[in-house]
Amino acid sequence: MKAQPKASHFVNGEWMEDSAGEVIEVTYPGTGEVIAKLHAATPAVIEAAISGALAAQADWAARRPVERARVLTRAVAIIRERAEELAQLETLDTGKPIQETREADWPSGAEALEYFAGLAPTLTGETMPLGGDFAYTIREPLGVCAGIGAWNYPSQIACWKSAPALSTGNAMVFKPSEVTPLGALRLAEIFIEAGLPAGIFNVVQGYGPVGAALATDPRIAKVSLTGSVPTGGKVYSAAAAGMKQVTMELGGKSPLIVFDDADLESAVGAAMLGNFYSSGQICSNGTRVFVQKGIKEAFLKRLAERAGTIRLGDPLDDETQFGPLISTAQFDKVMSYIKLGRDEGARLVCGGAGDPAGPLFVQPTVFADITDVMTVAREEIFGPVMSVLDFESEDEVVARANDTQFGLAAGVFTADLARGHRMVSRLQAGTCWINAYNLTPVEMPFGAVKGSGFGRENSRAAVDHYTQLKSVYVGMGPVESPY
Ligand code: NAD
Repeated sequence: MKAQPKASHFVNGEWMEDSAGEVIEVTYPGTGEVIAKLHAATPAVIEAAISGALAAQADWAARRPVERARVLTRAVAIIRERAEELAQLETLDTGKPIQETREADWPSGAEALEYFAGLAPTLTGETMPLGGDFAYTIREPLGVCAGIGAWNYPSQIACWKSAPALSTGNAMVFKPSEVTPLGALRLAEIFIEAGLPAGIFNVVQGYGPVGAALATDPRIAKVSLTGSVPTGGKVYSAAAAGMKQVTMELGGKSPLIVFDDADLESAVGAAMLGNFYSSGQICSNGTRVFVQKGIKEAFLKRLAERAGTIRLGDPLDDETQFGPLISTAQFDKVMSYIKLGRDEGARLVCGGAGDPAGPLFVQPTVFADITDVMTVAREEIFGPVMSVLDFESEDEVVARANDTQFGLAAGVFTADLARGHRMVSRLQAGTCWINAYNLTPVEMPFGAVKGSGFGRENSRAAVDHYTQLKSVYVGMGPVESPY
């Protein structure tokens, strides 16, 4: 199985290689087979990408918004025409079941491009009458933005960042995760085919230092990162030194709260969706499932029954519902948390082991009798490990749900909608769901509070993070000067 791209980087509208860069081996997590070998960007590649983007950006920004939108709309059509091929590539890159990559990854990316293509021509400034004078605002792009991606939704992340950036007239240098470098290259090719000028979307590969080089370069106006909290801290500091704008989409340990009046099947389904989809490698997962005491055992029984029916297997098989973890490092990390959970005294309800389906498979795992102080209830595991806690009252569960450094997401299941709204008004999270979980339509802002980051992706809100306002005061009469 091979998925070798024509070269490692895509810069100034062309494939680019510099074999002096550190080797990046891309493996298919389904089997561990090496499917491509790339090189990390050298300083020469990074220079070509940034200077090329800088040279191309002004002309792109000067185009009418509807012209930029037309290019993005063509890219959407190409993505949809090649849906199957792109889903297969995403599965090879990530090991996620083909069911998922067909349904979620590129389709969500295409919707972001579609949405921002539609939005860009509607963006206007404001006019302020000021007596005889007046003022107006112009919404301008920031310039060259850097996008740095995580490995769990590589192509979706590349689209979620490039769509608002490009539609508003910015250029972008995108660095995918070194673990999943393939999808962004395909996106760069599709953009060129759709008519995007060379230099407006560039892809450079590499490990952390390549991301750091982008975050520190004075010509980069903004850095948008999707990654872990520790990386967020480093990128934020580097960007602050250059007074750059940032968007930080970081990790979480989100609460999913189930009251005893909730529809049990629906809540169990949501807890599984919010812990086992993408083998649990989703930032907004509801990994702390708080279940009201009276229904806890019924909830756990149903959860164990349903978890037992999940089909693990070859990610390229249409029937497979649950794939491997992304890498050996991630597998080891998740297994060490499972051991820790047992050592800390949690009760294993199901799973808890690797699986014969393949070397990187971890079974869907549920721990009960979890207390708030256990490490598995406090740290982001980023694997298929659900912690079930119990609670009695609303006040109690709000306090415990909020007692975390993270603030990415939260969910509430209850038949009492007034209670649902009351709860979300008290939960410290950027995105909340009532009787739903992990749905992130492009029309809705997505982002975090507290240690999980800031800035928003998707929706009109993202435009504020890729544009700046210029204010223009227009004097209509003679200047009244005291001198
Ligand atoms: P990571 O932090 O290890 O890496 C993220 C990216 O940052 C990679 O491209 C990496 O090469 C780069 N990087 C590493 N060090 C850097 C540095 N010093 N300067 C600049 N760039 C650097 O994260 P990961 O393991 O790829 O992804 C998993 C994490 O991402 C989890 O914590 C998850 O919750 C988070 N995540 C968040 C969201 C969100 O929207 N909030 C979405 C997906 C994933």
